[in-house]
Amino acid sequence: MNGLMMQQPLLISSLLTHAERHHGEQQIVSRRVEGDVHRYTFRDMAARARRLAKAVARLGVSDGGRVATLAWNGYRHMELYYAVSGSGAVLHTLNPRLHADQMAWIAQHARDEILFFDIGFLPLVEAIAPRLAGLKACVAMTAREHMPQSTALPGLLCFEELVEAEDDAYEWPVFDENTASSLCYTSGTTGNPKGVLYSHRSTVLHTYASALPDSLNLSSRDTVLPVVPMFHVNAWGLPYAASMVGAKLVFPGPALDGASLHELIERQGVTVSAGVPTVWQGLLAHVENHGLNFASMRRTIIGGSACPPAMMRAFQDRHDVQVIHAWGMTELSPVGTVCALKGSQRALTASRRNAIQAKQGRAVFGVDMKIVGDDGAELRWDGQASGELMVRGPWIVAQYLGGEGGDPLADGWFPTGDVATIDADGFMQITDRSKDVIKSGGEWIGSIDLENIAMAHPQVAIAACVAVPHPRWDERPLIVAVRKPGATLTREELLRFFDGKIARWWTPDDVVFVDAIPLGATGKVLKNKLRDAFKEHRLPDTEARHGRA
Ligand code: AMP
Repeated sequence: MNGLMMQQPLLISSLLTHAERHHGEQQIVSRRVEGDVHRYTFRDMAARARRLAKAVARLGVSDGGRVATLAWNGYRHMELYYAVSGSGAVLHTLNPRLHADQMAWIAQHARDEILFFDIGFLPLVEAIAPRLAGLKACVAMTAREHMPQSTALPGLLCFEELVEAEDDAYEWPVFDENTASSLCYTSGTTGNPKGVLYSHRSTVLHTYASALPDSLNLSSRDTVLPVVPMFHVNAWGLPYAASMVGAKLVFPGPALDGASLHELIERQGVTVSAGVPTVWQGLLAHVENHGLNFASMRRTIIGGSACPPAMMRAFQDRHDVQVIHAWGMTELSPVGTVCALKGSQRALTASRRNAIQAKQGRAVFGVDMKIVGDDGAELRWDGQASGELMVRGPWIVAQYLGGEGGDPLADGWFPTGDVATIDADGFMQITDRSKDVIKSGGEWIGSIDLENIAMAHPQVAIAACVAVPHPRWDERPLIVAVRKPGATLTREELLRFFDGKIARWWTPDDVVFVDAIPLGATGKVLKNKLRDAFKEHRLPDTEARHGRA
């Protein structure tokens, strides 16, 4: 017997309709690529999104056709999120930090029909657009007075002219909730990038779950600053979640340096921000070097790579900003686990609480997880056993676009490629990416642990730990680090800093100081590049020190 409740498909347009009707006066503030700050309301945004939906249809996008964006976080990008998906087309957010060849490959693979871009990306668009066979139009996301001149793009269109040419009399179409809504490519550190095609249903369910108190904890009382780019897994879903809960949104545009972010946070009364650790490094350095503080910011969501405990302590102890450590993947829309203490854990000592917070957290409802050994058998949740993390749930990839790579699932579970432990309370901790694992004498050394220790040194700005081939142990850990400006830290001092913090045989064999560490398109350390750069590195003889001679 069926229940007797209404059938309403879960559609992205309903998030916008809700925000317009119930939070119409809530603000969206954007620092623009044109250099100024733009401010309007959800009501204004919804009206412009309807006009834009009509404009996109007029450009001849096919049913389910892909509309690409190459843009920073801002209100026009937000309008595209709703106009494109809401009208039944697919929003494809391209990552402008990729190499032009890779971007062209992805856009061609996705069969993008229209390309919307921020004016700063004109040279990139000029390089890739002529290579895209199915491209019907390029649109510069600006007003007439800022339109760039381009001989390479003769039919270049102007975003504001397209919007002005339409009225907002438009009904969002109702269709099957399983219809594709948006498309993101994986970072492709191994092989070609693969397309993850989200649906309206998966997106709306993910939005509900990510807004919950033990998840990202968002409400209409918040002012949310997504520093995580809208081209990085839909800014972790924040443009959808803000509409669902009616939070004020603040978009930073291209200015992601510490000074610009701090000014925006203070002026706009930001209560919660979200981004990868590398971005917060710049913000914290700026705040600490200038003796500043955070008047309104209470929480910061940190994910994308492991949040070093030293960064957590800086935010929490020195600035009274609570860190919400989260783990996710492009394949998970992205939120999988969030580290929120359970009630019984609040009474623990600060050091016990800190140890829990260093973990990536508990599964949000909708995501199930397990860890498995090499033989595929499930491992115990004792916080010690580590194995590959597997997940399943309604916002997790079932297949990549075009069936690339075959069936990604193993017995209905998605193998994440992350190596993790899960403790008895259900807190998961990533110890490594399986391809970054350091295998020394047949046993694993957790590179994230070693990085966290190195980064806790007050004179270290950033550090990464990679495996270097070793004649006796197969691989040994090497720390590659950048000193803070003016620091005089030596190799020996940093190596001594590990004493007593880990098993002796985990102690890195060597430290190399560099000027910069290579970061990928989403701000993560490119370990494969580092491994390549240091594969010939001659490690000193450390048998005596790591005690396994
Ligand atoms: P992406 O699909 O580019 O978002 O990358 C997903 C990968 O980033 C995951 O599989 C993890 O290896 C890594 N990652 C994401 N969040 C965290 C975190 N909080 N701690 C450690 N690694 C993370």
